[in-house]
Amino acid sequence: MDINAYLRDHIRTVPDWPAPGVQFRDITPLLQNPRVFRVLIDQFVHRYMAPELRPDVVAGIDARGFILGSVIAYELNVGFVPIRKKGKLPYATVEESYELEYGSATVEIHTDAVQHGHRVLLIDDLIATGGTMMAGKRLLEKLGAEVIEGAAIVDLPELGGSHALRATGLPLFTLVDYA
Ligand code: IMP
Repeated sequence: MDINAYLRDHIRTVPDWPAPGVQFRDITPLLQNPRVFRVLIDQFVHRYMAPELRPDVVAGIDARGFILGSVIAYELNVGFVPIRKKGKLPYATVEESYELEYGSATVEIHTDAVQHGHRVLLIDDLIATGGTMMAGKRLLEKLGAEVIEGAAIVDLPELGGSHALRATGLPLFTLVDYA
């Protein structure tokens, strides 16, 4: 099966959302169809079940990374931790800010979310400029964890994010590319 084409058929492109000129890649149809959802999740589960890639923890990025990451963690029988937009986590946190096209954003993680030396799989739905995943990686590293791989359904390589992330030494696994 050509996974890239199969999954791409179930990703909806919404023009001019959230702003004029943006082609938003909407992954909700992938989740809505139980057969496609299973094929999608199995791609990640099979990869990260291999002993050399098996994480101690899965960290998911707010908010679609929670949907994917929690199911993958459950299947791998490891814990799940959320990386959230600022102001949502109740306990002590560390934070990282990053630049957006207009302004900046901040993400946080609980200080006890991972242990020193933990091998972490970092997951989100999509990599665009890479700023979000880079901030997630920095957060986990602040806590002494090692991010073994970043994973997402979609990569938008033309925006340079995946290239920049790989240049920091972070291996990436993505399933659908939009050139
Ligand atoms: P980046 O930080 O520029 O790489 O943007 C990635 C973040 O923005 C991820 O958390 C995505 O969920 C979100 N994002 C940006 N563009 C899209 C899109 O076209 N579809 C879905 N999510 C997007």
